[in-house]
Amino acid sequence: MSISTANISTGNISTEKSVTAGEGGPQPDSWDSSKNIVAPSVGGAWPRPEPLRTTAEERLYRKQHLAGAYRIFGQLGLGEGLPGHITARDPELPGHFWVNRFGIDFRRITVSNLLLVNDAGEIVEGTGPLNTAAFAIHSQIHAARPDVVAAAHTHALYGKALSAIGEPLYPISQDACAFFEDHVIFEDYNGVVLGTDEGRRIAEALGERKLAILANHGLLSVGTSVESAAYWFIAAERAAKAQLIASAAGKLRVLDDETARLTAGQVSSELGARWSFEALYQIIVEEQPDLLD
Ligand SMILES: [Zn+2]
Repeated sequence: MSISTANISTGNISTEKSVTAGEGGPQPDSWDSSKNIVAPSVGGAWPRPEPLRTTAEERLYRKQHLAGAYRIFGQLGLGEGLPGHITARDPELPGHFWVNRFGIDFRRITVSNLLLVNDAGEIVEGTGPLNTAAFAIHSQIHAARPDVVAAAHTHALYGKALSAIGEPLYPISQDACAFFEDHVIFEDYNGVVLGTDEGRRIAEALGERKLAILANHGLLSVGTSVESAAYWFIAAERAAKAQLIASAAGKLRVLDDETARLTAGQVSSELGARWSFEALYQIIVEEQPDLLD
């Protein structure tokens, strides 16, 4: 797929040159040049191409970004007591994922206190305890969605409030369109999720989407990277907040499906989410470098 650099950013800008997606140029999942969508930036570099990493380097990369995601969630107040978990699939070991140790506040998570858990719920590396609900939900999400590297779930305030009224995220803003036709309400609340059967039903309801609103519970997001899963959670929480504020203040102006769908194509890419998260990650590492310990 050849894309002209006349209206996109390639990193090394040459206004005449064209680049080929997948060969160091911009990735095609962020926009569709056939629709003449204006590129999201001009004159700067997308954080691509990513360097090739060994398995060990990729594992460390995921753990560092996972610890960073917890710290960012903590800083944004997205935790609610002890519940809440973000997981990252191990790049090598089938069915294994990394998760926070139960009982440590998000603001104290480090690379070294993460747990590696296998598909039987056993702690393979690190010192527990493991949150049973984290295993029950996330093991089933990771099993059902091979494309998903990470999943995030907490009882953050606005997502939880939205989950109590049975309404989806409406396309009422550009940002909210990221979730248009890409989220689901999981209707059945049956107490704390302690069994994998319940986790499997959540995974089935989620399907191929990026977000589930768990009724009377909270939000659950997934992504093809730690960065995107975390960013979609943050974005969904803020979209829920905007919707609740707007609906309390007046009648919602919901975008028509065609406009919402067009906008979704512009703002819902995994690459865009990764880049958005990376900006937050750089700040949190600078402010709290001990997260890398
Ligand atoms: Zn929960």
